Amino acid sequence: MKKIYTIFNFLIVLCIVFTSCNQQKSEKDTESQTPIKEHTELAVIWQQNAAEYRALSYQAFNVATQKVKNLKRTKLSKPLAIITDLDETVIDNSPYSAMQIKQDLDFDKDDWIEWGKLKQAKGLPGAVRFFNLADSLGIEVFYISNRYQDQLTETIENLKLLNLPNADSAHVFLKTTTSEKQARRNKVLEDYQVVLYMGDNLSDFSSVFDNQNSKSRNESVDKMSTEFGDQFIVFPNPMYGDWESKGLYENKRDWSDKEKDSLRNLKLTSYK
Ligand SMILES: [Mg+2]
Repeated sequence: MKKIYTIFNFLIVLCIVFTSCNQQKSEKDTESQTPIKEHTELAVIWQQNAAEYRALSYQAFNVATQKVKNLKRTKLSKPLAIITDLDETVIDNSPYSAMQIKQDLDFDKDDWIEWGKLKQAKGLPGAVRFFNLADSLGIEVFYISNRYQDQLTETIENLKLLNLPNADSAHVFLKTTTSEKQARRNKVLEDYQVVLYMGDNLSDFSSVFDNQNSKSRNESVDKMSTEFGDQFIVFPNPMYGDWESKGLYENKRDWSDKEKDSLRNLKLTSYK
């Protein structure tokens, strides 16, 4: 009888181990099956195909054009300048994002540098015309971007290929130690009166937005609502940005792809 119990107990343990192994295997399978970038597909297709994207870009540059044409230039103590971001504000990097979907790859510095070296980023609709207008009105353009400092040469060459003004190392400030841009903005503000800030990411405008979650970012936008379309010109970027990494994922970088997928689903507001 004792022998039967022992065999029975052994079978129960075996069954538990088998079930647990299967469960772990199934969780691992789900993890490996969670696509890394598939969720961005419609955003990238929209940027590359929707006429509405082009219209929004023209709209942003038209507002900026009215602003620089109507500037009151009396009692100027400093020369005028525009501070603008580069990626998804002046130039279009959607082919890099499309590659990430096709290859199912997360952001990777080497891949990003490879794309930059091609110098194939096109100007956003209306960008080249606007920045040349600003230049013709005597307004200097400073490009403050979080591209890596290693990318300075090819970035300037890409801007030159597009015939953008001030494409030189005195006007292109890339990321050295920090993604935060205020120190670079302050450097420009020492010698210039900045009339416009342009960007696709709120941290392109003010340090108030640095490292904030979605709730705080939205509250600050409400407080500064009159600045948008006035001193701040915003461009659409549904493909990536702080709205995702710092807002949606709460500035935490070690979520698994499955966890990110769940987080995205959790943030959907449905009526039922
Ligand atoms: Mg940008």
